[in-house]
Amino acid sequence: MTSARPTQPKVYGWCPGALRPMMSGDGLVVRVRAPLGRLTPEQARGLATLSQAHGSGLVDISARANLQLRGIREEAHAALIAGLRDLGLVDEDASAEARRNITLTPFWQVGDDGHRIAKALTQALRQAEDLELPGKFGFAIDCGTMPVLTDTAADIRIERDQSNADGLILRADGAPTGLAVSAKTAAQEALNLARWFLDQGGASEGRGRMHQLIARRSAPPAHVALPPSAKHIAPPRPGVTPFGLLVALEFGQMPARTLAKLADYGALRLTPWRMLLVEGIDSLPPLPGLILDATDPRLRVSACTGAPGCPQARAATRDLARDLAAAVPVGQHLHISGCAKGCAHPRPADLVLTATGTDRFDLICNGTAADHPLNTSLSAARLRAAPDLLTEGS
Ligand code: SF4
Repeated sequence: MTSARPTQPKVYGWCPGALRPMMSGDGLVVRVRAPLGRLTPEQARGLATLSQAHGSGLVDISARANLQLRGIREEAHAALIAGLRDLGLVDEDASAEARRNITLTPFWQVGDDGHRIAKALTQALRQAEDLELPGKFGFAIDCGTMPVLTDTAADIRIERDQSNADGLILRADGAPTGLAVSAKTAAQEALNLARWFLDQGGASEGRGRMHQLIARRSAPPAHVALPPSAKHIAPPRPGVTPFGLLVALEFGQMPARTLAKLADYGALRLTPWRMLLVEGIDSLPPLPGLILDATDPRLRVSACTGAPGCPQARAATRDLARDLAAAVPVGQHLHISGCAKGCAHPRPADLVLTATGTDRFDLICNGTAADHPLNTSLSAARLRAAPDLLTEGS
């Protein structure tokens, strides 16, 4: 499908951090990059307290496994940063914070390859003051027995060699080649690859992604043809894992009081699938905002913040998504987007409703929020009254 919308949403080209927050319709969005994607119970409780004291009391999990505190009042930002510093959850400065854009598989163990590489890369990126990478440039460390980050946005990937369980491969995102690395060399080679990206002109005016550069140029000379990366693997479902219990957050968001309550059960690992892994447990009681049942229809819908929380939104999204979830056929996914930017699900979805006015949605099949619609100007009331409209043309 082609992308052709008359009004284009604003693209910022950078991600919010804690030290460089982004203004949204409900106040500042403050993104916290927990080292190793893990929060101790004390850190989780502390974040919940800070969210309630300085913000709206709503906490998101991002598609790169970071927590976002929403609705932070501008005048409270300094106090919030002081609180994050006490919790060990903020970097020295905004540049170091921006560089340290690492997604680590949540399925790691202390001392395994992923854990060792993530620690080394975190340290190396903190120290690499000369490295001015684009705002969205990131690293994925996916060294578990099964790859799980194939669909997570990243520019440099460290993954297990699919033909040699002991081997590790460093890849430039989008390249058919790679470099054999070890847990000892991976972090330094990742930095070398980031520098190659900059030297080759990959970042123009602070923007640019590795896959865009690879599409224009050949891969780094030291990289050789290697077995391909694993194909798309569906994200895990809520349930018990060898590492603890995976729980989903409705629309990737929970009240801060749920975060505080979860801390009573164990340390938390953040995932890029709008889920948290609660270490070492196999069950939880129901808590506000959590989805514990792998068959819950809300897992078949995505919806962004929408109106009124996002200034770009044309309409509210989440109430409609809740109401339509049961009408989405099993195995399909419905994405409801407040505008054509499609933040909640940037990839194509089976069904997409994109808001085009206060109570107007375009319906797109097998596309993104910006693609050509099959049906236009559907009101929320009409969709609720006749949810079959969603699947009539598919
Ligand atoms: S997709 Fe949603 S959250 Fe993203 S800019 Fe549009 S309305 Fe805002």
